[in-house]
Amino acid sequence: GYTEHYAVAAIVSDTLPLVQHLIRKTTITLEREDRASRLIAMNRTELQQVLVNLLVNAIHAMPHGGRLLLRNHDSDMDGWAGVAIEVADTGAGISAEVIERVFDPFFTTKTREGTGLGLSISQMLVTRQGGRISVSSEPGRGTTFLVWLPEAG
Ligand code: ADP
Ligand code: MG
Repeated sequence: GYTEHYAVAAIVSDTLPLVQHLIRKTTITLEREDRASRLIAMNRTELQQVLVNLLVNAIHAMPHGGRLLLRNHDSDMDGWAGVAIEVADTGAGISAEVIERVFDPFFTTKTREGTGLGLSISQMLVTRQGGRISVSSEPGRGTTFLVWLPEAG
């Protein structure tokens, strides 16, 4: 399909209003850091969908408030130039046995409103673009999702 080259910060600005109403209902503080100077070429709507999935998960992980960090910076992976986008929360974290399965289709730990498709679809969209998505978590402290996308060539 049609893609254009753009800065990740522009997509972050387009995406945050979509989840502001969820943040406003909580005592979550949002911190944003835009440092990426490289441009990427992923379809805008698709990247927006990925970020919404990650942001909604992070917000759900902090029902009693916390810090939501949304950062991007230039980053190389396996020798390729690209941009890293981090979505980090200070929520409950993910246990070692659950973290193995978070990208599996239909895997969810949510008893309500969980389809278990957000991360599997996000992974599909990102890897199809030559990117990577990974997660690290410290139970009791929080979770960080990292999306890496290659620089537009
Ligand atoms: P859903 O949100 O519908 O459950 P996802 O694919 O988005 O499906 O996420 C799968 C599972 O991964 C969630 O049910 C949850 O257990 C875990 N998860 C994802 N993001 C986070 C997070 N930020 N903190 C804690 N657990 C998370
Ligand atoms: Mg989800």
